[in-house]
Amino acid sequence: MRQIIAGNWKMNGKFSDIAPYAAALSSAGTPAAGAPVELIICPPFPLLQSFCAALKDSGASLGAQDCHANASGAHTGDVSAPLLAEAGARYVILGHSERRADHGETNADVAAKVRAALGAGLVPIVCCGESEAERDAGEAEHVVRHQLAHSLPPEFKGLVAYEPIWAIGTGRTPSEADVAAMHAAIRAALVAQFPATGAATPILYGGSVKPGNAAGLLALPEVGGALVGGASLNADDFLAIAAAALAS
Ligand code: PEP
Repeated sequence: MRQIIAGNWKMNGKFSDIAPYAAALSSAGTPAAGAPVELIICPPFPLLQSFCAALKDSGASLGAQDCHANASGAHTGDVSAPLLAEAGARYVILGHSERRADHGETNADVAAKVRAALGAGLVPIVCCGESEAERDAGEAEHVVRHQLAHSLPPEFKGLVAYEPIWAIGTGRTPSEADVAAMHAAIRAALVAQFPATGAATPILYGGSVKPGNAAGLLALPEVGGALVGGASLNADDFLAIAAAALAS
């Protein structure tokens, strides 16, 4: 199965990081389009255009970390999907739990952003995932199904990332059995919601993916890749995760 490894730099990185990172990807022979692994780098907005130029020959793609639901207007501090596309982004992460927590984004907000992304020709990577309290209460699958039902509009085409909130940036991950069970539940929900495309929608796992645990996670059924935060900041770690994907 083709694997997608996306790096979410969050609010990290600076212009001087771009050249060495891109050089590391290029010298490692970043897989070309159509290869069994696709790499996506999602840096902060201001780095997009320079990153785009630096990655030109690498085969890696670029993504943004959010977009506004409108194409233009009086929305101070926000960035539109068409501008992201113009800056070189092909993907956009939407509904990350940090956006939901820090900016109060609701499922309806996420659905509106998905529409905007699709309208601008971007591929949305829509995040879902339960809190630790929800998992402990046995509600994880219910919570995730509810997020998918309300964050994905009928015209959705893109990727889904399952990211248990308690695993993000903590060094903790669910057991492989729990990841497999959740991905199976997400697949069933996608097939029910999108009969024409749901079986083929890639489902990434995210939450403390590292070189040491990537092989096991990426080999699980219905895991179509990884959304990687902290470990994506280091090109060697990111490439090691990509290598685990190639071997899976
Ligand atoms: C993320 O924020 O999307 C993420 C998965 O972070 P980390 O890999 O650092 O847990």
